[in-house]
Amino acid sequence: MLEKIVIANRGEIALRILRACRELGIKTVAVHSEADRDLKHVRLADESVCIGPAASAASYLNVPAIISAAEVCDAQAIHPGYGFLSENADFAERVEQSGFIFIGPRPETIRLMGDKITAIEAMKQAGVPTVPGSDGPIDDNDERTLRLAREIGYPVIVKAAGGGGGRGMRVVRAEASLLNAISLTKAEAGAAFGNETVYMEKFLENPRHVEFQVLADTHGHAIHLAERDCSMQRRHQKVVEEAPGPGISEEQRHRVGSRCAEACRQIGYRGAGTFEFLYENGEFYFIEMNTRVQVEHPVTEMITGVDIVREQLLIASGEPLGYTQDDIHIRGHAIECRINAEDPKNFMPSPGDITQLHLPGGPGVRVDTHLYNGYRVPPYYDSMIGKLITHGETRSVAIARMRTALSEMVIDGIKTNIPLQAEIMADPNFAAGGMNIHYLEKKLGL
Ligand code: ADP
Repeated sequence: MLEKIVIANRGEIALRILRACRELGIKTVAVHSEADRDLKHVRLADESVCIGPAASAASYLNVPAIISAAEVCDAQAIHPGYGFLSENADFAERVEQSGFIFIGPRPETIRLMGDKITAIEAMKQAGVPTVPGSDGPIDDNDERTLRLAREIGYPVIVKAAGGGGGRGMRVVRAEASLLNAISLTKAEAGAAFGNETVYMEKFLENPRHVEFQVLADTHGHAIHLAERDCSMQRRHQKVVEEAPGPGISEEQRHRVGSRCAEACRQIGYRGAGTFEFLYENGEFYFIEMNTRVQVEHPVTEMITGVDIVREQLLIASGEPLGYTQDDIHIRGHAIECRINAEDPKNFMPSPGDITQLHLPGGPGVRVDTHLYNGYRVPPYYDSMIGKLITHGETRSVAIARMRTALSEMVIDGIKTNIPLQAEIMADPNFAAGGMNIHYLEKKLGL
């Protein structure tokens, strides 16, 4: 069993990891920037080390500083959380080469999944459904490319193999603009990701975003924890997530989920991961895998009773999974609202001092946040300051609990998106369920 780990992240996820460590009796080292001395988990950790100035590049992305902190504190492992270095294969490799355990998949796996072309290839081999496409990179044979696009059928989307964060993609609606779009995307991809490789797939007009959570240990076991629907998005950023997916049948869940678990076994996956799909007209299309814990993991925890972060720590300790697929049962429905420090109208970040904080409670209400009275939200990082999660026997109970919880929640001193979340929870189309990824932006008139 691990005895001491470094938490290489900040905010709510760092606190989430710290709590899981405490339950398991694992000691914690909080590494933080100069701007983050007052973070709640820094105060609660067994040890803390300042690793650099406020700017992420000099602190949370400062690989040598993080590794020296692990050395100085005699920790055995590093948990990267989400964002920052969590999907950086070179970091995972440096961690392992320095003699520490990386709490996540093997570096080769992160690399395999970080390249969308190799990721799609690996998924196909495991029978995971993918988007009809070019089956590999687009080459210099323009005739072949045009023929391929005709076969796929317009509109198509040209995507960078090394892309991320919603960048490096271009939708093409007619043959006349295809070749130009490909050269533009190549040039952009080369500049942004250092990799000019692009591929092409069918563009789905009105999909939902549905993703499967998986867990895999180092003994060859892998299971899935059902799906989440994260279709409420603004600028490709998830705003509300829920589990299970509205209207997804037990048969679909079993069919797609078991393919994801099989893919994990085939690639020797280790730890927690997520298979992201677009879902349209009853069909699933794999788009990418996230090789880390996700912001929205709590909704899955609420419906399955599995503590995903605890499982990450146990897997990294070399323990076999404590569950078989037959042990996983879905109970009720869970919804998560991301709470951001931002203006609910124009989405401008709103850092500052929290002058008053009242958190909601009651049956089926969970709040994952690092906020406390008097805490100052710094301006340097992501604007997400917490997550409100509700659970109920049915989806409508979960929504009703979310409405009540949002109305109780007071965060004074800064602006938050609570009014926006309240509006979504009052929306009849959201209540009906199954809206596509464009719904929220359309509703907001964006
Ligand atoms: P990234 O790694 O940049 O997040 P993804 O491959 O996950 O890239 O795609 C990001 C978003 O782009 C998706 O959530 C979806 O909204 C849109 N997208 C990607 N591929 C397609 C497609 N084939 N059809 C329609 N939309 C797509």
